[in-house]
Amino acid sequence: MATPSSSCSGGRRKKVQLPLIQCPLCKENTVVVRTSRTPTNLGRIFYTCPDHEKDGSGCNFWYWEEGYMKYLKRNGFIDGEEATEVKKAAELKNASKFDGDVVLRQDDELKKALTDVVSIGRELVVVMKLMLVVGSIGVSLLVGIMMK
Ligand SMILES: [Zn+2]
Repeated sequence: MATPSSSCSGGRRKKVQLPLIQCPLCKENTVVVRTSRTPTNLGRIFYTCPDHEKDGSGCNFWYWEEGYMKYLKRNGFIDGEEATEVKKAAELKNASKFDGDVVLRQDDELKKALTDVVSIGRELVVVMKLMLVVGSIGVSLLVGIMMK
């Protein structure tokens, strides 16, 4: 029996796996690792310069974990093998969070959302037809009353 609160992601988060390099843009700060707090990317890891500002005024160095990994690879900070390990670890982490069928679930969510939209559309059509029927009955009643 699983208690809902036990799925909280606080406990056993792995320590930083990618090396934190000196920011290549401002060359003043060491890149830091952060966790996203926006609803669409909740819990997603990104790497950024501590000088980075959301309004774009600060240093512009900012990557999602995967992008940062590619950047490191491209610039020779890590070799391919190491990067694969990190990728695997990231996938495992995601998989455990979603009970191992992350792709399937995303598909399901999408289908569900689409079905919802379609059914809402159908309902709207039904409601509109109903209104037309009710409206025409009302009009004919009115006409009937006025004719008398
Ligand atoms: Zn910087």
